[in-house]
Amino acid sequence: MDNNNFINELKKSLKPYHDNFLSFKQLPKEGHSKEEIIDMMKELYKLEEPKWKEGFVSGSVYHGDLGHIDFQNQIYALNSQSNPLHFDIWPSAFKFEAEIISMTANMLGAKKTPDEIVGTVSSGGTDSILLAMKTYRDWARDQKGITEPEMVVPTTAHAAFDKASQYFCINMIRIPVGKDYRADVKAMEAAITDNTIVMVGSAPQFPHGVIDPIEELSEIARKRGIGFHTDACLGGFILPWAEKLGYEVPPFDFRLPGVTTMSADTHKYGYAAKGTSVVLYRGKQLRHYQYFVTTEWPGGLYLTPTFLGSRAGALSAECWAAMVAIGENGYMKASEGILKAGKSLKDGIRQIPELYVFGDPLFVIAFSSAVLDVHAVCDVMSSKGWSLSGLQKPACVHISLTQRHAQPGVIDRLVSDLKEAVAYVKQHPEMQGSLTPIYGMTANINLQDAVINFSHELIDLFYET
Ligand SMILES: *Cc1c(COP(=O)(O)O)cnc(C)c1O
Repeated sequence: MDNNNFINELKKSLKPYHDNFLSFKQLPKEGHSKEEIIDMMKELYKLEEPKWKEGFVSGSVYHGDLGHIDFQNQIYALNSQSNPLHFDIWPSAFKFEAEIISMTANMLGAKKTPDEIVGTVSSGGTDSILLAMKTYRDWARDQKGITEPEMVVPTTAHAAFDKASQYFCINMIRIPVGKDYRADVKAMEAAITDNTIVMVGSAPQFPHGVIDPIEELSEIARKRGIGFHTDACLGGFILPWAEKLGYEVPPFDFRLPGVTTMSADTHKYGYAAKGTSVVLYRGKQLRHYQYFVTTEWPGGLYLTPTFLGSRAGALSAECWAAMVAIGENGYMKASEGILKAGKSLKDGIRQIPELYVFGDPLFVIAFSSAVLDVHAVCDVMSSKGWSLSGLQKPACVHISLTQRHAQPGVIDRLVSDLKEAVAYVKQHPEMQGSLTPIYGMTANINLQDAVINFSHELIDLFYET
């Protein structure tokens, strides 16, 4: 693959606004008028809104009703100066966070365990996972003297666990999943050593939307005296309601005594604005290993619960407001719509003989084909306006369903476009998906460095003015 050509092509799609909008390499000498700036923002908004609003994208905007967005924006405006770092000036910030944590914990089984479930609000799912993994590292060093920590993680767990492994020098033992794409309990157990600090399972995992056997895994972890993290970033705010609606949901939360930490993303199916998530702990003692305190700094006694210093208190206010405005019945109703969309989509894909669905997921649906290049199908879908995710190992395409897809007609349009896309790729068997060569390279250990170099160039491109 010629990196330069590919990067130049990408440049066109990633930098579409260069010529037609205000653009600066250095500060303007005189400030521009607020009206001019607001007008430009409105134009950009109009260009980018239709795609997510009409349900063409996987995940990304989980609620998206204009009334909800307006409400969230009002809350932001009222709290835009708030910074939880200055808890003396804005005690409201921790009021909101304490209640977000308590509401989330009680939704995830805190009432059904004698232990106290506590947590913190973080800036997103990755942040929650990084915090939990750092906490286990420090806990294991302090309590067990483990200096070369290991984590046992199914291959389908989120990339944030790789990030935690790299950032915090925790050796990640990656265990291939079973034929049903769920974590392999026997293989996970066999991978535990004296250095293992934590085992991980997802409810559900991102690639195929299936739920790992959390009950068995967490029980093994409990018996071995190690931590168990349920990554419910995706499912935390939808599975409890799915269960109440009568869907089959295996246990995954604090009702299981072996589950010691969880992550649940308020900024996904919690319907808060982007920038919040919750990380939960079984007991305050474990949570203490997350905190940062320094007594030495001339700037004063400095303490923070999470990685950040100054933070946007307005995001926590928005998150609290979303949860309180929606309430149990609101979440239940939203989940019902999304789960119905999931069922229609599964049924629709199963009617296309060239495609098959991975496992029996609820609201994150992955499909592939034994006879076609599924990434070529994904490209044809892109030309029809869809923004689906192309995945690898094995090659498949996935969509996370949101309230945008529960709108009338969206799933019908998706299924009928999929039928057309499949027919098109069948007629053009020479067609290769644009991701196919890249994923071909990631599969070859000798070419992985080339993919890393390419990725670095891609990120550099983001930052070009
Ligand atoms: C989205 C997601 C994450 C990471 O969350 P971010 O908010 O993107 O950082 C982690 N795990 C799962 C299963 C997810 O779906």
